[in-house]
Order: sequence, then C-alpha cells, then structure tokens
Amino acid sequence: MYDLILKKRNGHTLSGEEIDFFIQGYTRGEIPDYQVSSLMMAIYFQKMNKEETADLTRSMVNSGRVMDLSGITGKKVDKHSTGGVGDKTSLVLAPLVASAGVPVAKMSGRGLGHTGGTIDKLESFPGFSVEMSPQTFIRNVKEHGIAIGGQTEDLAPADKKLYALRDVTATVDNLSLIASSIMSKKIAGGADAIVLDVKTGSGAFMKDMDDSFALAREMVDIGTSTGKSTVALVTDMDQPLGFAVGNILEVKEALLTLQGKGPGDLSDLCLALGSRMMVLAGKAGDTEEAEDLLRERLFSGKALGKFREFIASQGGDPSYVDDPSRFRDPEITEDLVSPGSGFVRSIMAEDVGRAALILGAGRKTKGDHIDLRVGITLSKKVGDRVEAGETLARIHASSEEQWKEAALVLSKAFSISTERKSPPLLIKGIVQAGSEVRY
Ligand code: URA
Repeated sequence: MYDLILKKRNGHTLSGEEIDFFIQGYTRGEIPDYQVSSLMMAIYFQKMNKEETADLTRSMVNSGRVMDLSGITGKKVDKHSTGGVGDKTSLVLAPLVASAGVPVAKMSGRGLGHTGGTIDKLESFPGFSVEMSPQTFIRNVKEHGIAIGGQTEDLAPADKKLYALRDVTATVDNLSLIASSIMSKKIAGGADAIVLDVKTGSGAFMKDMDDSFALAREMVDIGTSTGKSTVALVTDMDQPLGFAVGNILEVKEALLTLQGKGPGDLSDLCLALGSRMMVLAGKAGDTEEAEDLLRERLFSGKALGKFREFIASQGGDPSYVDDPSRFRDPEITEDLVSPGSGFVRSIMAEDVGRAALILGAGRKTKGDHIDLRVGITLSKKVGDRVEAGETLARIHASSEEQWKEAALVLSKAFSISTERKSPPLLIKGIVQAGSEVRY
C-alpha cells in the first residue's frame, strides 16, 4: 500500500491490478483508513486517467454482489440524477416508462439532503415498502413491469466505505472519484443501459456548467468502457424543478405530472429523460417517436394506472393515488408574500433547499427523522410577474417557529427586478459516447 501511495503521489498511473488490490483489501478491512485517505488525497491532486477511472469503477462493482437481472426479458435501463431541489423525476419516470413496456428494476437510496430520497417519498403511501427478497424483486418486475428496491449493503460495499472516508477527508470533489462512485452503484444494480441527469446550478452538486459537462463526460465514458450504453443530459438546477419541494408535496406533484397536468419544466424533463430510456431499451426508433408514445401514456391514464399498480404491488395503499387529499397536512400552512412588484429574476435553489431542511423535510445526518408532510410550494418561477403582497410561495410547517425560520431563508432565495428575465434553459446539453452537444 505504501508503494501505491508513493506512486500516485509522484504522479504515476496505477495499474488495474494495483487498484483492485487496494479496493478489495480496504473492503475486507485489511488496509487501514489512514493509508486509503492518503491515497485519496494523492488521487485528488494527481488525478486519474480514463483507464484508471474505469478500473476503479470495475473494482468497486466487484467488491460486492452484482444484481442478476437476466431473468427479466428486455433491456433494463436505469436512470440516475446527481440530485437537486424539487427533483421528483424518478417518481414520474419509473411508472411512465414501465407503462410503455420498459422494464424498471431500480435500486434507490434515502440519502441526505433537502428532502428525502425516492424511497422516503414513496413511503408517504401507507404500507409501501422496499424491503423484499431478490426473488420477489425480480418477480414484481416480471409481473408488473416495475419494482423499486432499497440499495442493499452488499451493493458496491467498497464505494460505501470509500465515500464515507472521502466525506471526512476533503476528497469528495474529484471528478474520477465522483463518477466512479455513482457509476459503480448503477452497474452493480444490473442495468444494461443508463440515462444520467447531471444537474448544474445553485442547487446542484456541480454549480459550474463546465464542471457539470466534465462530470457527464466522465460518467458516460465509464459506462461506455464497461459495455453499458450511457447518455447524460446536463439540466438546470438554478431554480427548483417544478413547484413542490418536500416529500408528500412532491408525490402530489408527481401524481399530477403522471396525468399530463404537471408543471412545464418537470413534464418536459421527464419526457426528455424518458424518451432516451425508451430509445436505449429499443422501444422507439428515435426520441420524437418515444415522446409521442410517452405523451399518449400520460393522457390516456395508463401511466397513472401503472403507478397505482406499482404502489399496491409493494404493499402501499393505492387509494391515495386517486385521492391525494387523504395525505396528512402539517399544522401550519401560510403564504410568503412579495415585498415589491416586478418580475422574478432568480430563485436560488440552494436557499429553497435550506428552507426545506429547516422545516424538517430532509436529513442533516444519517438516522435523522424526516417529516413527510412539510415543505414549500412555489407560486412563482423565474420570469413570472409578481405584485407587492402577492404570494411567492406557500410554506407548510409543523410549528410557528419553523415557519418563521424557513420564511427568513426562503425570502432571501427570491430576487425581484423591474425587467423581465427569461426562464433558464432547462436542458443545457447532451453527452454521449463520441459526441457532446451544448445548447
Ligand atoms: N454521489 C455519490 O454517490 N458519490 C460521490 O462521490 C458524490 C456524489
């Protein structure tokens, strides 16, 4: 291990065998944290080339179990978002593409953040559970075309250990390490092809546009080199996606979107990502044809029907799908009003996320309790006209103190100006093997 640290520190390339040595050794507990953190810092400064990054991903995949989805007919396409405020696309996309014949066998996480993850949101439906045996998971995909499971401990365990170590040693933000971390989990999940949503802007992990494209390229190259067709869209996260931020609030917005009545940006993004999943799964010849097919699923009620079937198949109460007013409301719902008139110039997604966290919609640390009911519903988006005293957002809180604290942060998220600014471009570009388009 000393030799590997020295080699990387001095700027040399690690071989696949050397990378596998430290990954498997670290997973087995044979190499101490202090040596691996030192190597991570050397990688942070000296970087890794494409081959090393692909080797690292492969080793992390092989550190645990790889889901065998071969029993499910058809090409399994997974989707991953680098995460953002109000991002509920998975809740819409999974049943939407499943209703169009794409088998969805998805592993999701809870994670830390402004709101819960996909699983937390789905658990808003009483009885819904992601706990099931691998056999039941596969059977559900075969019978219903869709299953969402929790990420198990034995899925890329090396990444779990390494990510926790990077988190406390200031070595998270290295492109190769981020890309291999994300892709190892997707590949171990058994996907044949992967669609990535790389967010960019104030509420994203990657705030800078060039960094976001570089991360997208890194992940697409890993996918391609491991034999998985991979496409990445780089999409806006300067303002929140849709209007709702908070677990039950996002579920309600996803239900509307599944009926073709969702916010424009969320609907457009779901169609853009979904159409690429359809093409990769071989269910459509091109993205235009795929979008037409998906639109039909939204307006005919088939997408919502698939969601209802999916919730019931995992123990959830499907009556909430048809009557979302059954979801519990928090104690206080009051509006935040605009102090002046003009046009909404920006809504800093990061601040909206912080306000949601104050309300208790997300977790600051692992094991924190989250309140599924609380959150924020925006009434205005960038470019909208607003009059003094008109509602900017509605804050759903469990106490007066939390409402006030969140309102203070949220009011700073909005900037109002006299001139109208166009809404930000939603899709900034597409990165695929051998090509990159920026809009
Ligand atoms: N998300 C991950 O899963 N891994 C990283 O390294 C960063 C973000």
